Amino acid sequence: MSRIPITGLAAMAALAFAATTQAQQQQPQFAATKVDGTDNVYIFRYAGHQSMFIVTPEGVIATDPIGERRPAAQAYIAEIKKITNAPIRYVIYSHSHLDHIAGGKAFKDAGATFVAHENAKKRLQEINFPDVVMPDEVVTGAKRDITLGGTTLELNYVGKNHSDNTLVLRLPREKIIFAVDWIPIEGVQFRGMADTYVPDIEESLKKVIAMDWDRMIPGHPGPGGRLGTKDDARAHLQYLQDLSTAVKQAVNENKSYVDAEKDIKLPKYEKWGGYNAFLPMNIERYYDFWNRGI
Ligand SMILES: [Zn+2]
Repeated sequence: MSRIPITGLAAMAALAFAATTQAQQQQPQFAATKVDGTDNVYIFRYAGHQSMFIVTPEGVIATDPIGERRPAAQAYIAEIKKITNAPIRYVIYSHSHLDHIAGGKAFKDAGATFVAHENAKKRLQEINFPDVVMPDEVVTGAKRDITLGGTTLELNYVGKNHSDNTLVLRLPREKIIFAVDWIPIEGVQFRGMADTYVPDIEESLKKVIAMDWDRMIPGHPGPGGRLGTKDDARAHLQYLQDLSTAVKQAVNENKSYVDAEKDIKLPKYEKWGGYNAFLPMNIERYYDFWNRGI
């Protein structure tokens, strides 16, 4: 049995501290990175949130300003300016949740046109939260295309899911989508799935899987910062279906909320992010659907 002298422990602690500091240095507060294999598609990350932006000779199409309680917009614009002097022409909101879309005033001041789904505009007008730029234009129906400087971006509405106003942005040439919050990569749904429509989210997911794309930029970085694949989307749909089936059975067996949350385990997903903390809350969301049709 080996014994480590106190000085050795102190040295190990110092090494651990140095490693932590190095890790923090490797992950700055924000960064813009080009997506591999593309000419002009970028990810802007601020802490744990991220957006996609596209640079064209005629201007930039940005998405989510990520501004609520985070001074992200100035940093976002500064990162764009390092890449191009072309004007920022558009800001597209992925959905109405404030942690992704508040704080866009600096983009408005720079002359951008703000676009969101019509239900997002309605919602934002209702809550009237300070520091939100109202959309100038809205998407109605299932799809709108924005073409700028040789790049086409599709704004797809696939129904209710994580909100009633989520847009799935797709670059047909690059076969990349940007989908925020509702298709986690190797993760369960966030907390109690607030604002999520069950079971509509499963139908939305099937529509996204049927689209032509290879890579997904998520609104929160995936494991190791990797992008999502169709297999990730299929795995998430399977998770929701497995969750739904298990909760339906518990309700049919007259289990209480508490017992359903205690008894249901989905070991296939136990390595996924949020499994221990959020699975019981995900169960509660589906329990309300199967128990009360909510
Ligand atoms: Zn959200």
